[in-house]
Amino acid sequence: MKQAIHPNFKLTKVTCVCGNEFETGSVRENIRVEICSECHPFYTGKQKFVDAGGRVDRFKKKYGI
Ligand SMILES: [Zn+2]
Repeated sequence: MKQAIHPNFKLTKVTCVCGNEFETGSVRENIRVEICSECHPFYTGKQKFVDAGGRVDRFKKKYGI
């Protein structure tokens, strides 16, 4: 009985404009997105941002990393 709840739910390929591809569950097929976890500013920009002025080093020293 349960399999009738999501009759069209299946794995579909998601393609990002950055070239990254991954699969997710969706009722849609061949989804295209403009941003993903591989190119999101939170991931790609954070490194450069926090590296400015050695803030990472100070952060690590402060917390003993
Ligand atoms: Zn991407």
